[in-house]
Amino acid sequence: MTDDAHPCWAVYDLDRLRTNLAEIRRCIGPDQACIAALKADAYGHGAVPVARALDGEGLTAFMTGSFDEACRLRAEGLNTPVVMFAGALPKGMADLIGAGLVPTVVDRASAEATARAGRAGEAVPVYVKVNAGLGRLGVPLEAVEDFLDELATMQGPEVQGLYTHLPFGDARGRDWAEQRLAAFDALLACLDERGLTPPVTQARASACVAAGLSDRANAVCVGHLLYGLSPFADDSLADLSPYRPVLGEIGSRLIQVSDHPQGSDIAIGGSYGIRHGRRTGVAPIGVAQGLVRPVPGSRPQALVRGRRAAILAVSLEHLVLDLTDVEDAAVGDTVRLLGGEGDAGIGLDDLAAWFGMTALDTVMALSGRLPAHYRDAAGGAAGSTPLRSDAR
Ligand SMILES: *Cc1c(COP(=O)(O)O)cnc(C)c1O
Repeated sequence: MTDDAHPCWAVYDLDRLRTNLAEIRRCIGPDQACIAALKADAYGHGAVPVARALDGEGLTAFMTGSFDEACRLRAEGLNTPVVMFAGALPKGMADLIGAGLVPTVVDRASAEATARAGRAGEAVPVYVKVNAGLGRLGVPLEAVEDFLDELATMQGPEVQGLYTHLPFGDARGRDWAEQRLAAFDALLACLDERGLTPPVTQARASACVAAGLSDRANAVCVGHLLYGLSPFADDSLADLSPYRPVLGEIGSRLIQVSDHPQGSDIAIGGSYGIRHGRRTGVAPIGVAQGLVRPVPGSRPQALVRGRRAAILAVSLEHLVLDLTDVEDAAVGDTVRLLGGEGDAGIGLDDLAAWFGMTALDTVMALSGRLPAHYRDAAGGAAGSTPLRSDAR
């Protein structure tokens, strides 16, 4: 699983992606459709392997932001449509449509661009983004009805979906989201009355789903929960214990173990040695691989031989561990920065706290910098080779 020339790796557990999806579906009930947010390289997990793992799961769409990533998904020949979160200039719409992607329109200029880009007489499926209060992108909620009327007069664009985004992280945010969901619901009721409701309507993302908010839209679009990440700063808002992080392991191996009978010097700017202990170990993983220097005063640890070893220093390419209490440690031993079994296991939340980051930012920092392996018991070949490396 690891390359002896530079032993370090990340393991992503695609089975957890499916169990997290099952939990989301349990929460939203059988009448709601599910869209997967695959933006930012599937929140750092690898858009292509994640899409392959989810393609048979009956999702309404994969939504992503990067054109390049979307083209790679299309090249996989997936059965699930790829819808673009807004990311293009009006002039770029023709490229999106030409690549078989479904663009999001956010205003008149982007809508007209899709009309120009389509072939005469052919419908161009689009999603419409509504700004329901977040203040980022989209047609202002009050203007949506008129906007849809205007779109109906254009040749080409055919509205397949109408969506908005109401993320929140704390109790105050939840109150805000509840209020904005009600406003979006009122819009949908209005459109229903006029027979203008598009096939897909969606406002709830991970925070709304986890907090148990409901609405009259027919779909949810989830990212955080799918990857087993909390959307909240305040974890008392929901019980997220059924969700497990898809990033399951960060590992390396000891390339040197040293004894320091007299203690060793403390280098200027960082402690690379050890003053009172006897043994240190070095693993070839550091800032270059996405680790960050730990928050001062936190007590970061890694697992060696099932025991916890204090992390003494993180430098550009190296990690230094205090192995004083792991007397039998030897060159070649696995060093787990994330993962491991039972009480000894190190969770993503532990790692994120030591780094002073959110779990999502931690996953993003590590993403693409380590050889990635994918555990996929359900999708793998009859239970054999549970780990495979994947092109990202
Ligand atoms: C990222 C994103 C989502 C998914 O959000 P999560 O909080 O990760 O579930 C949904 N809708 C839009 C518009 C997004 O940009």
